[in-house]
Amino acid sequence: MIFENQVRKTLKKIGLKKNEKILVALSGGKDSTTTAYLLKKFGYNIQGLHINLGMSSYSERCMNVVKKLSEDLGINLNIYDIKKEMGSSMCYLRASVQSAKNLKNCAICGVIKKSILNKEARKLKVNKIATGHNLDDEVETFLLNILKGSLQLSANIGAITKNIPDKKFVSRIKPLFYLTANEIRKYSKQKNLPVVYEKCPCALDSYRIQIRKFTDKLSKSEKENIIKNFEKLQRKIKRENKKIIYCEACGEPSMKNICKKCELLKI
Ligand code: SF4
Ligand SMILES: [Zn+2]
Repeated sequence: MIFENQVRKTLKKIGLKKNEKILVALSGGKDSTTTAYLLKKFGYNIQGLHINLGMSSYSERCMNVVKKLSEDLGINLNIYDIKKEMGSSMCYLRASVQSAKNLKNCAICGVIKKSILNKEARKLKVNKIATGHNLDDEVETFLLNILKGSLQLSANIGAITKNIPDKKFVSRIKPLFYLTANEIRKYSKQKNLPVVYEKCPCALDSYRIQIRKFTDKLSKSEKENIIKNFEKLQRKIKRENKKIIYCEACGEPSMKNICKKCELLKI
């Protein structure tokens, strides 16, 4: 099957080994669900992590499908409840940041989730974190970074992250990197996977959505061309020679004395 073979090819390119412990970031959406389904099908050693963002009934629906998927696949599911662990739901955390800074919902949510994911992955002693990012996401990110005027921000894009090596960073892989959102939707429906197909109610105002209006009009081969050209260019992007230090507030790896998450939350 072409779809599954593309994922196998990506995993080969990444060099993922069967004895590695992988934590799949499960949101309940089609991408992360398909990622977990295929990694398990191909015989990888996976477990899931679901971050319950506490966004009312939407989060409940996400949690239910993630539980169902984990049962169906027979994998261990770890749940991080943001209300219990951080004192408030993502909506409140975001609102408090937005009262001081003009930042979009997803920009705040993304930074917080990334930090949680890395920390939990380390606690669980896994070798890799797998996320459901697809070709559309990556094309959008690349174009966003160009529009922001910083190609440097794209230095870390790829089917496997190329973080500056550090014992506290768990590297992230994206098995669906070369597949479009439409292909993934079709596949997940064909396989009848438990998925919440509705959009996140908070993804209303992101800059990314503006870009998506443009990229949605592109064909798959045009999207592939953007990524192929980006990959050629990426070899030439000079990495900033910054040292990893640890955040003075939370101890997580960071480029500055205070990491992005703590800076946002004023910890
Ligand atoms: S769509 Fe945006 S706000 Fe919703 S969960 Fe994802 S990053 Fe967070
Ligand atoms: Zn911090």
